[in-house]
Amino acid sequence: MNSIVQCTLATEYLVSYFAQGEWESDINSNARRGSTAKGKMAQAFSSLFNETCTRTSSTAISPNIFYRTVCSLYPQFSGYSQHDAQEFLRCILDGLHEDLRVPPTKPSKTYSEAEVDSWSDEKKARYSWDRFRKDGSSIILDLFGGLLHSSITCHRCKYRSSTFDFFMDLSVPIPQSGNDERPLLSFSRRSRSQKPVSLRECLDEFTADEILDGSEAYNCAKCKKPVKATKRLRVCKAPDLLVIHLKRFAYDTYSGEKIENVVDFPFSNLRIDNIMRPDVSPPSPVYDLYAVCGHSGSLHGGHYVAYTKSLSPYPPLPGSQQSSVHSLVESSAPLASPWTPDSPALPALRETWHLCNDSYVSPVNKAEAVSGAYVLFYKRRR
Ligand SMILES: [Zn+2]
Repeated sequence: MNSIVQCTLATEYLVSYFAQGEWESDINSNARRGSTAKGKMAQAFSSLFNETCTRTSSTAISPNIFYRTVCSLYPQFSGYSQHDAQEFLRCILDGLHEDLRVPPTKPSKTYSEAEVDSWSDEKKARYSWDRFRKDGSSIILDLFGGLLHSSITCHRCKYRSSTFDFFMDLSVPIPQSGNDERPLLSFSRRSRSQKPVSLRECLDEFTADEILDGSEAYNCAKCKKPVKATKRLRVCKAPDLLVIHLKRFAYDTYSGEKIENVVDFPFSNLRIDNIMRPDVSPPSPVYDLYAVCGHSGSLHGGHYVAYTKSLSPYPPLPGSQQSSVHSLVESSAPLASPWTPDSPALPALRETWHLCNDSYVSPVNKAEAVSGAYVLFYKRRR
């Protein structure tokens, strides 16, 4: 839990939003509608954030109240067994999104399925994203939200169906090649290759075309029968904050295992053009890493830590003091970093990476974050 909290607290725009108190008006407006989390998650996150900012000693803070709040909303995190950090992150983001959602402005105009089907993909994507936001946008959706386009093309008649879903993180597989047989030395019948892979390979695997056939054949709406088809997944709206979950924990019917391969990922200049639709605009967003949640140990027990690019105590947002993260996002203004190389406020901490363990924080060589990386946090460069 601590590692995900540390990564979340390293998310500067989210922290600025809480620091400026804007969350209180959003939570109040939402309380009238009754959120699932009933404001508890935002309250608890704000309290934890305030405690972090106002502590006067160097001793560690206990996030007990925050933890108990999360457990009251998501009981699966109770107890002392190892919980999944990415699942924990999703619950925090879902809870904050529910609590901070602004009420829908007005009902979206609805269109018939046939009408939507006749639109271009670009128009469908815009329509889908508008509908998600009109159902209730939040700082969480605006910062972390992206849009995935899933298409299925019938091999027989070439009809292509499309669905659009928003995401707050991408769960990408770690591709395996050349499994070796090790029947005597391993509890597992097959051991996976330990060869390092690149993040780009993981993203390629995530969006690799999938052939639907046999028992998984596609029921084509035009052919009106099961047919062979190709399923394709692409990002059609890239988020401002891109969270990539490396699927290290693999399960089958009888057991599970941890995939230990080192994943080589860039600390800056991550481009995801290989998983994006080529016709979206801008075509090739660029991301820089700001936090990593890492795991050491096995499937059944281990330890999570965070590596964060620590910049400062929470500085003002770009532009005027009165501006807010929310309004910046709403107006699609650039999320430019408030820090520049010439900034007098924070020059020394500009590129400092820290290891955040349960009870201490220490400077670290960023290369240490590579081994065991489990969840990567990237910020889009503007
Ligand atoms: Zn068909």
